[in-house]
Amino acid sequence: MCSLVGNQRNCPTASFLDEGLLTDLLNGPQADATRLREIIAKSLALQALTVAETAALLRADATELIEEIFDAARMLKRKVYGNRIVLFAPLYVGNLCVNDCAYCAFKRSNPHAVRRTLTEAEIRSQVQALEDRGHKRLILVFGEHREYSPQFMADCVRAVYAVKSGHAEIRRVNINASPLDVEGFRIVKSAGIGTYQIFQETYHRQTYATLHPPGTPKADYLWRLTAMDRAMEAGVDDVGIGALFGLYDWRFEVLALVAHARHLQDRFGVGPHTISFPRLQPACGVQLDHSRQVSDADFQRLVAILRLAVPYTGLICTARESAEIRRQVLGFGVSQIDAGSRIEIGGYTESGDTQVVEREQFTLGDIRPLEEVVRELLETGYVPSWCTACYRMGRTGEHFMEFAVPGFIKRFCTPNALTTLAEYLADYAGPATIATGENLLQSELDRIPDSPEKAQLVERLRRIRVEGERDLYI
Ligand code: SAM
Ligand code: SF4
Repeated sequence: MCSLVGNQRNCPTASFLDEGLLTDLLNGPQADATRLREIIAKSLALQALTVAETAALLRADATELIEEIFDAARMLKRKVYGNRIVLFAPLYVGNLCVNDCAYCAFKRSNPHAVRRTLTEAEIRSQVQALEDRGHKRLILVFGEHREYSPQFMADCVRAVYAVKSGHAEIRRVNINASPLDVEGFRIVKSAGIGTYQIFQETYHRQTYATLHPPGTPKADYLWRLTAMDRAMEAGVDDVGIGALFGLYDWRFEVLALVAHARHLQDRFGVGPHTISFPRLQPACGVQLDHSRQVSDADFQRLVAILRLAVPYTGLICTARESAEIRRQVLGFGVSQIDAGSRIEIGGYTESGDTQVVEREQFTLGDIRPLEEVVRELLETGYVPSWCTACYRMGRTGEHFMEFAVPGFIKRFCTPNALTTLAEYLADYAGPATIATGENLLQSELDRIPDSPEKAQLVERLRRIRVEGERDLYI
């Protein structure tokens, strides 16, 4: 098994990550402006970039070229994703953990951590609170512990889907948890999960070894690196990869993410559904090494370069980042954000408006309520979307054609986003949000040329507003 092999070069599924090659590419000569513009043009033609091409973008340091990268990322974002932003919330189920990750407040050696696992009744009340605010998409987060078996996680997912009252329901449950074996992934898949998300933390093997003590399950770098292969073998075809930025050189991590994405694409015919790029945040009981801290300017660059490198992959920016940073990166790459998030266990019913740091994995940067985020999105011309249509229509994995098929966004994504927005406005929004939202909805409708599809959309909106129907999607 790969996980027992000390040298990743002996592991067929891990051979995509050749550290020496990535480092050489990053230390190579600067590409000239003409070559860089060719690479940018390739990306704008919606072709994924190679690792070498991504490295050329990462090496660019002339202000003018960096600006061109930002401009291109903005253009590509508009072209591929339009102005929709998908919204979700995390639900931390339990923070028992056998690992000792140097950066995480849930690490087993942290005496300050208050350990807790939600009971099924508590999951129900957290979900109810989330639904009452208007959420439709959740990601369940777990520490690594024998209590959090695949069956346990599957039961949690089913418990979440079962919480329905009136118009309130969760329509897509994703998971962020430790790597499983193929059978484990099959078990969680059978509960109807959307995406299974695992971050490699750092792709740099030596750094990984210093942060994850030997003897802990997470010390097995290759088991983690190959997890998404096993997930895909098990039929989980929406997988989310990520790196925790601030542990090692951010440029290396970007290249490694691109190498990982290309590997999945080559091996399974489908790349990752999403890429996440959390930045290391202060955490209770954790001494952080700040030597690899990623500045705001570099953070923006990495988002823009990722946008260009993987045009078809959703990019997630979580509430770890401040509202201001999130505003900036929405413009040139990010397609999904969480909002109204609480990451202390039980936080959606128990913590009010304050953060209880002893119970959190790290400190959040943006704790605005969902409606405030929604209103700001609307005011700045974005369409907040709670759409779950593709996953529920079986348009996942290689069937997820969102970006490959010309006209897909116009045909499916925009109408579905607008109907979920109409639901939110009808069920959860206050008067100011309703006014801004209805204006935006109308201007979005005005931009759609008359057609049978538009007439059907108008009819679905009427059924939502007048008949009180919900969950109308195509
Ligand atoms: N226990 C599982 C694991 O380690 O994969 C999943 C849950 S873990 C709570 C989710 C992610 O939080 C980790 O993969 C890591 O990237 C991130 N994280 C941990 N400590 C963090 C910190 N101090 N700042 C920002 N993100 C952090
Ligand atoms: Fe446990 Fe995950 Fe935190 Fe590591 S990152 S200590 S595995 S919860």
